[in-house]
Amino acid sequence: MTASSKELSQEALNLASFSFSLEQKTALFTQLKQQRGILFQRDIIALCNEHKLTETQLLKACVPVASLFSVAPISQFYVGAIVLGINQQGETQFYFGANVEFTHQALSLVVHAEQSAINNAWLNGAKSVIKIAISDAPCGYCRQFMNELDTADSLEILLPEKHFSLHDLLPNAFGPKDLGNEISLMSQSASTHQFSGISNACDETLIKTALNAYVPYTGNFSAVKISTYQDGDFYGSYAENAAYSPSLSPLQSALSQFYLSGLSFDDQTVKSITLLETEDAKNQLEVAKAVLASFENPPAFEYITAALIK
Ligand SMILES: [Zn+2]
Repeated sequence: MTASSKELSQEALNLASFSFSLEQKTALFTQLKQQRGILFQRDIIALCNEHKLTETQLLKACVPVASLFSVAPISQFYVGAIVLGINQQGETQFYFGANVEFTHQALSLVVHAEQSAINNAWLNGAKSVIKIAISDAPCGYCRQFMNELDTADSLEILLPEKHFSLHDLLPNAFGPKDLGNEISLMSQSASTHQFSGISNACDETLIKTALNAYVPYTGNFSAVKISTYQDGDFYGSYAENAAYSPSLSPLQSALSQFYLSGLSFDDQTVKSITLLETEDAKNQLEVAKAVLASFENPPAFEYITAALIK
């Protein structure tokens, strides 16, 4: 049973007031960059106690901080979203997200803030997404992206002035089951597949990230690794969608993670990019090239395909 819109709206009215000072926002932004866009349970408890807030009040108060991660050179429309998710240990975590746009490339390549937050939760081991707080109403594309989640039937969407269920915003929805797909984003168990003939030098985390891709429609288990000179590696995985277009490519997924560290994508920071995909289902090379073409001096690009053993 989902909470009714009326109840959610009442809750919103009760929670409307708190906002962080500029100084507090700056401190939180600095902490989040170091924690790669995640507020852990211990941080959430500390902030709730310090400011006398409920978890939901804190979630909403953090949304303007999520917007600070936005990279929006085209629209200058800075969207923030935060998923309240539960990790494998049963702890509540906030997974931040923001929109990412690419200049001189098709608008269809942008990453939406809601995708970014859900991707952050998914890649970092959340087992479920309970709520998502967003700075602005989710577009139709994002409503469809959220409908791929295993918690789509109970997902709460918190906007600054009003709360909804996903069902309120996406009635008579088209979803995974309409294509005969019984799994959903974040419901799948760990992959038992392997790649064959892959070099021993290939990064283990990249292989694991590819095998954990959500690819019920094409079977292209694929992932991207962004290596930096001084700030470690960032990984992204392919997340497909029943309506196809809202699917998130592995490079978009990795870039979205990269930007949640507050880094800028330039040749002083990024050393190389590696795309790994499944030999007989590959479909990501041209998308990756298109996205990378939007950067000045794109980094070294390595492309690996490997056969999948099911
Ligand atoms: Zn959207």
